Amino acid sequence: MKTKPTYYITTPIYYPSDNLHIGHAYTTVAADTMARYKRLRGYDVRFLTGSDEHGQKIERKARAENMAPLAYVDPIVGSFKELWRRLQVEYDDFIRTTDERHIKSVQEIFRKIYANGDIYLSQYEGWYCTPCEAFWLERQLVDGENGQRCCPDCRRPVELVKEESYFFKMSKYQDRLLEHIAANPDFIQPVSRRNEMVSFIKQGLEDLCVSRTTFDWGIPVPLNANHVIYVWFDALSNYITALGYGGEDDTLYRRYWPADLHLVGKDIVRFHTVIWPIILMALGEPLPKQVFGHGWLLLESGKMSKSKGNVVDPLVLIDRYGVDAVRYYLLRELPSGQDGYYSEESLVTRINTDLANDLGNLLHRSLAMIGKFGGGRLQRPVPAVEGPLEQEVQALAAQTVAEFGRLMDRFEPGNAHGAIWKLVGRLNKYIDERAPWALAKRPEAGEELSAVLYHLAEGLRIIAILVTPGMLNIGPRIFGQLGLTGQPDLATWEATAWGRLPDGTQVNRGEPLFPRIDPAVLAAAGPEAPLCTQTASVAAEPAFPPVGPEITLDDFSRLDLRVVEVVAAKKVPKADKLLELQVKLGDEVRTVVSGIAQHYTPEELVGKRVVLVANLKPVKLRGILSQGMILAASHGDQLEALTVSAGLPAGSQVK
Ligand SMILES: [Zn+2]
Repeated sequence: MKTKPTYYITTPIYYPSDNLHIGHAYTTVAADTMARYKRLRGYDVRFLTGSDEHGQKIERKARAENMAPLAYVDPIVGSFKELWRRLQVEYDDFIRTTDERHIKSVQEIFRKIYANGDIYLSQYEGWYCTPCEAFWLERQLVDGENGQRCCPDCRRPVELVKEESYFFKMSKYQDRLLEHIAANPDFIQPVSRRNEMVSFIKQGLEDLCVSRTTFDWGIPVPLNANHVIYVWFDALSNYITALGYGGEDDTLYRRYWPADLHLVGKDIVRFHTVIWPIILMALGEPLPKQVFGHGWLLLESGKMSKSKGNVVDPLVLIDRYGVDAVRYYLLRELPSGQDGYYSEESLVTRINTDLANDLGNLLHRSLAMIGKFGGGRLQRPVPAVEGPLEQEVQALAAQTVAEFGRLMDRFEPGNAHGAIWKLVGRLNKYIDERAPWALAKRPEAGEELSAVLYHLAEGLRIIAILVTPGMLNIGPRIFGQLGLTGQPDLATWEATAWGRLPDGTQVNRGEPLFPRIDPAVLAAAGPEAPLCTQTASVAAEPAFPPVGPEITLDDFSRLDLRVVEVVAAKKVPKADKLLELQVKLGDEVRTVVSGIAQHYTPEELVGKRVVLVANLKPVKLRGILSQGMILAASHGDQLEALTVSAGLPAGSQVK
């Protein structure tokens, strides 16, 4: 038997300090779609994801909750798996860095590199960013307000630490790494990230501190129990420990390594293209074929982050719009190399235009006409009746298949799906050009009519094959309506060739693929806010969110908080969470939109003195310019606006 080529794809292992948001969903859905696409192409695929559970941040969070670190992360890791299940992500393996197999293998890796002389014991004094788990050099730091030295990645203050540490001789491999990058242009993609990394490496690599003694939540250094292995050394190794590297059975390692694609967010490209390859070089193992650093999914309010409270929960979106629509949106909307913008409006637009209008209508119209003019039966046309339009459709179908494959192979799922939709658009236009309803009125045009109906069905069959890796329920549903269920040989990659649809197929018209979303539903759902989740763990009783990172008095003094009097209030039409308030601040009257309609009637609020963030940049909500934000305290479903007694005049400062 011929052995299949292998394809090994990984996502980052996610950090269980919070629930995941749609940015993580994007990475994992994209990897799942790639894995399914490669399987369709006949590869022996291995798809790995997991969780990165060690480090000081987890230790501190667990302690704050009075929990053992493992007990703290367990339910969060459970929520990761639940999210992947709901997104229909099917990984072959889920590695936890707390797995015994991982711990043993990481210790073996450490022992091996130590024995080679590339790890040595010394003193470390340096700057450490706890949230990022990263050490920085003096010259890499940035100045915060108040003259504090801050992390260049997250801009939070760094700590000066001094301790005995093991070091990894990164500097020794600097030139070899640069040579490897030059000789393998695909190793770091997209090109812009490669250029960034090359200039970073050329600045000079320092030896890397690979152990800590100031906390315990990590893998113990073999032969020296005072130290735990520094998180990146631990985390990055997951890509091979999950394959049994350094363990008793390394069959999977020998079969799948080197990885074909490490898919990572752009913020961790540096670790994957500098530290990770050097670890592998020190082990004498081959490097991954490609590290692809994709962009971030941003909100209009900036990068999604727990501390900003603008995290979008993918589970809410799946409940509201269905898994296929959410997967399609993530794949289509995010340009793979650059950042993309998320908004629920753009998701609804994609559903209504691409899915309901373009694809859904194409199927619906085609099947209606096959039913009406062809008795529901398809006839393979005789070539003699195929005109230039039929040839054009056939050629475009072949070109679409090739283009889809080319773009998926380059990890451009958005453009690859764009290519499918060109064919969808062409077929919709083909219906109008050929006007089957007119052909049906001319008895002599019977064969021509059959050919048109066949071309529509065959185009849809090919589209169904191409959309299945991304939307696993949609391809089979199209197949079902085309009457092809139970014929898997018509759904293979080879079957994307034109003309496989059997003569005499009886179609089976069904429900619309995607119902249109009434924009009023979106309006009722309210702005971004209701999608934001704040709780870290899956608890019956809502947990209080942990206290956020420390700020200085200066940071606080940038907020201008004022007592304002509500002089008028009304509901915002079609948005059941929003009230439009007129508030008096000194002599000025402002409009503020506030998401408190489920807790206050407009009448209750008039005359109240509430606290306003007065210097917040105005934003438009439901078309209304909101000049500031009313402060409210909340816990679970309870919410109360902060009020001040009538003794203080509207306009008073709150400090
Ligand atoms: Zn940082």
